Amino acid sequence: MVDYIGIERIRELVARRGAGVFVEELAREIEADFRRWADFDKSPRHATHSAVGVIELMPASDGRLYSFKYVNGHPKNTAEGLLTVTAFGVLADVDTGYPLLLSELTVTTALRTAATSALAARWLARPDSRTMALIGNGAQSEFQALAFHRLCGIRELRLYDVDPAATEKLERNLAKLALADLRVIRCRSAAEAAFGADVVTTVTADKRNATILTPDMVAAGMHLNAVGGDCPGKTELHRDILLRADARVVVEYEPQSRIEGEIQQLPADFPVVEFADVVARRAAARASERDVTIFDSVGFALEDFSALRYLHALNRADRGGTQVDLVPQLPNPKDLYSVLARPALEVAA
Ligand code: NAD
Repeated sequence: MVDYIGIERIRELVARRGAGVFVEELAREIEADFRRWADFDKSPRHATHSAVGVIELMPASDGRLYSFKYVNGHPKNTAEGLLTVTAFGVLADVDTGYPLLLSELTVTTALRTAATSALAARWLARPDSRTMALIGNGAQSEFQALAFHRLCGIRELRLYDVDPAATEKLERNLAKLALADLRVIRCRSAAEAAFGADVVTTVTADKRNATILTPDMVAAGMHLNAVGGDCPGKTELHRDILLRADARVVVEYEPQSRIEGEIQQLPADFPVVEFADVVARRAAARASERDVTIFDSVGFALEDFSALRYLHALNRADRGGTQVDLVPQLPNPKDLYSVLARPALEVAA
């Protein structure tokens, strides 16, 4: 039997832990895995593009455990009442090849993306950062807000979305969180949101080279957390921001980010730093208070590996988990046909 985490179960697990603690623990797992970067078998994800979206497979392994995620990105979906991003994944035992866990990863992707964003900001942003612009107020946005409040000490959020209903939804959800020390301000443009912010998170969805941020919106010392540009032909930052003399661009896994990240707009030899080198202190995070740091996030399989391993342990430790019969259990493994020959199945047929 294979452990199973569906939507109801992830809701239960996050509620029992508390969303803040969950994100904090998940960030710790992700950081621990980035620290042992060399242990991982890594590859850029396999992407199947259509005119309106992408479907991707993301594998990772540390030689003991293996994971993959199936994830899509369809910005036009929300107009049809569907999510832009959905996902599920598997954690497996390398020794036997048997799956250990089949899990939803739609909610978990939002949690792990926010955990990774906040973790990166802890290393890259100025430690006194308290104000964040949050541009793009869709499905991922509450998770980003929560993680930056919890992990980075963000106490003022400046919201902007081209869709005012998305911002209203985010405001409502943040009000329910009742974080007494969090001030939320609605802005009329991306420029207004970014003005005076220490951190700017862009988490918009549009399958084109958008310019959510232009050079005039970026001030010395800012940290940019660019989350929404994660596909060829889908970016959020004007390229001149990346080319600033004082900018330091940090990516997750360089071969994948060259294809999918903001840096797809730049020549292949444009210098970037991998986040693993920052956490291992092989590369400096920021040289001065006035540097502009840019986390060019696309989402890497290692983060899902960490999330699945964390979920597997949490699910096992917590009462109420369920299992699915994904793999036959046989007295004689050479007699697979016995599965079909069982009387119960004959009756069902
Ligand atoms: P969503 O469709 O729910 O929300 C996107 C929001 O962006 C919408 O509310 C939309 O109105 C807004 N938007 C679009 N264009 C805008 C603009 N020019 N200015 C301001 N707002 C604008 O999508 P989501 O699930 O929140 O995902 C957001 C993005 O993050 C997607 O592009 C997705 O692919 C990406 N993503 C990245 C990672 C990662 O690891 N880097 C992980 C998950 C999702």
